[in-house]
Amino acid sequence: CGIVGYVGPRAVRSVIVDGLRKLEYRGYDSAGIATLDSGVLRTVKSVGRLSNLEEKLADGEAGGHIGIGHTRWATHGRPSDENAHPHQDCSGRFAIVHNGIIENYLSLREELLARGHQFKSETDTEVVAHLIEELYKGDLFQTMLDVAKRLRGAYALVVLAKDHPDTLVAVRRSSPIIVGLGDGENFVASDIPAILSYTRDVYVLEDGELAVVRADGVSIHTFDGEPVAGKKVLHVTWD
Ligand code: GLU
Repeated sequence: CGIVGYVGPRAVRSVIVDGLRKLEYRGYDSAGIATLDSGVLRTVKSVGRLSNLEEKLADGEAGGHIGIGHTRWATHGRPSDENAHPHQDCSGRFAIVHNGIIENYLSLREELLARGHQFKSETDTEVVAHLIEELYKGDLFQTMLDVAKRLRGAYALVVLAKDHPDTLVAVRRSSPIIVGLGDGENFVASDIPAILSYTRDVYVLEDGELAVVRADGVSIHTFDGEPVAGKKVLHVTWD
């Protein structure tokens, strides 16, 4: 339902919790956060209100300067801690958040189970984490292009990877995602209000676009991997 991602010098935990709070009006049943701090990728999630998640986050937890967060509106799998996002692969090297529905998740799940993947949730989303693990050969950008080719349905996805401590990759097909452009920091969100207290300059991803987001820059590509020429920056004037 709600997605927030951040990379930059600020404390990632407060940017993400603050951003998710701004998206609370959309409704949700659970919330979670994944951060990468000193090489450790960690996910904390909780059913219920954002305040439940905050209580679960011990002092000093979810530190660092890159991460992703999610508020979930369950479509596949009941509201629970396990079904809350972010979801991770078996190796724990990847964490993803997802809005939408992966229509071919059952066949992907069968295929991944046959290849030895173990699932921790009942969601359609978790297949994406395992698919990333399966297709990853060192290049996160290429992996997400390959993943997008395998997925049917509607998705806004953001991935955080242990091997890429400076990069978030966001993918859009039929579910909104925007990139907030800062100075030495950048943001990803499912909707503009999440990031409006930090920046008013955004890229609105179109269907079939993917964004590579680092603190020092953002590049937008099509699912063929080609850079999108002349992507317009939207300057938000409303509050
Ligand atoms: N289909 C996913 C799930 O049930 C994502 C739901 C959402 O958009 O919040 O976990």
